[in-house]
Amino acid sequence: MPATYTTQSEIPLLPSASKLPLPSTLTSDIQKIADKHITKGLGRLRDHVFKEGRGLQVLTSENRQLLDFTSGIGVTSLGHCHPDVTAAIIAQAQSIIHVQCAIALSEPYVQLVESLLAMMPDPSLDSFFFWNSGSEAIEAAIKVARTKTRRNNIIVMQGGYHGRTSGAAALTRSKTSFFKGTGPLMPCVYTTPFPYWHAMGLGKDTAEEVLVQHAKIQLDNLLQQQTAPEDTAAIFVEPVLGEGGYIPAPHAYLHYLREVCTKHGIILVADEIQTGFCRTGKTFAIEHSGVVPDLMVFAKGFANGMPISGIVTRTEIMDAMPAGSLGGTYSGNVVACAAALATTRYMRSHDIIGNVNARSEEIFKGLNAIQADTENGGWMIEQVRGQGLMVALEFKDPNSVQTRTHDRGDHIKLPGNINKLVQDACYDRGLLTLTTSIYPVLRMIPALILSENDVQDMLRVMKEAVKEVASTIERGA
Ligand code: PMP
Repeated sequence: MPATYTTQSEIPLLPSASKLPLPSTLTSDIQKIADKHITKGLGRLRDHVFKEGRGLQVLTSENRQLLDFTSGIGVTSLGHCHPDVTAAIIAQAQSIIHVQCAIALSEPYVQLVESLLAMMPDPSLDSFFFWNSGSEAIEAAIKVARTKTRRNNIIVMQGGYHGRTSGAAALTRSKTSFFKGTGPLMPCVYTTPFPYWHAMGLGKDTAEEVLVQHAKIQLDNLLQQQTAPEDTAAIFVEPVLGEGGYIPAPHAYLHYLREVCTKHGIILVADEIQTGFCRTGKTFAIEHSGVVPDLMVFAKGFANGMPISGIVTRTEIMDAMPAGSLGGTYSGNVVACAAALATTRYMRSHDIIGNVNARSEEIFKGLNAIQADTENGGWMIEQVRGQGLMVALEFKDPNSVQTRTHDRGDHIKLPGNINKLVQDACYDRGLLTLTTSIYPVLRMIPALILSENDVQDMLRVMKEAVKEVASTIERGA
């Protein structure tokens, strides 16, 4: 006999067993509880409490309004609480809230696949698997690459970041703090230099061809000295190095990786977790180069805040996976799929890429002008770089032979954390930014829907912040 469908109002209410105290709402109480009971392993920027968000604006519990140039590290790409996405989340939560992927299909899951197929850089990328976090999707990519090739070894880029779970941390090369003291990590991971002047010990004006040449030689050596091509399952690359400092990969280097992978049957994995979904001015950052990866990993910006990630590869590669080898309780959660469907539909039906490119041009023009204004602190900025709405300022560093020199006089003692000083000065003026990398880098990754006004507000604050920090340093304070 089939079960009777029960609507929400027919779900029996159980008698209440106790009277619970109300949860804390006072900001100071929230901070105290967090301080005492939430792991210090998190390393939070500040102890402020975010209460509301709309577009690029965030309101704290103490009524501070912040202009958010972080978008939760590239997540709320359509802005906080985008009405289309919020409506889709509510509607789905009122319909069915969890469809376990090994038990049944759901409409949003499959409709999301349809929506994503239309966005792929190449039609060969046609077989999907969804998970929750970026790190988990990286784990899936490792598994698929190893299963398909029946090889163990993985090559990653110096400075690359792929996550904090065990396998993903083993692939991470941006900072030791992500895995320090937790080894042994997954073995069989080899590191090759990424064509980034600072990490290669070269000056910032080194020609791109020279950087690429160095990187190519080192990869060739790696394949002859440390991991034979026949033992190498995959090469993982971020088309724009993210946590490593927002460094776009030269196209010639990506083409070389493609060549090497094709020649040796190695799976080329593009980690588009931070760069994907219009962030860099194309739907996926790898498209700038024209290279087609064998497998792509994505997360963050395509569900506007709901946790969902995924991998996509060719059916012929994905078909190597036996039933049950991929999965997870929340894998492709139906509410997250509904949010991703609404987000990707919005991206496909609006000129997001046009906005990203127009705003990016304004941002880089403005930041270059701040750098050029050497009398007002521009001298502290070593490089302005990035792509689309991944924007970074690398500052001078007393610990680096390449970036410590400046012509403001010997009496000036450079602090080692100019990026953090500027970040603080921005925060004091209501602008939220991020730092990253082992070098003093400040980065911004705002929602893709930002306006010209948002850009002007950011530039005004950045100019003041740079000027203030520089005058403090110049005064020797
Ligand atoms: N890869 C890249 C390129 C990332 O930027 C991130 C997150 N910053 C990850 C992987 C890991 O994603 P998650 O934090 O969702 O596990």
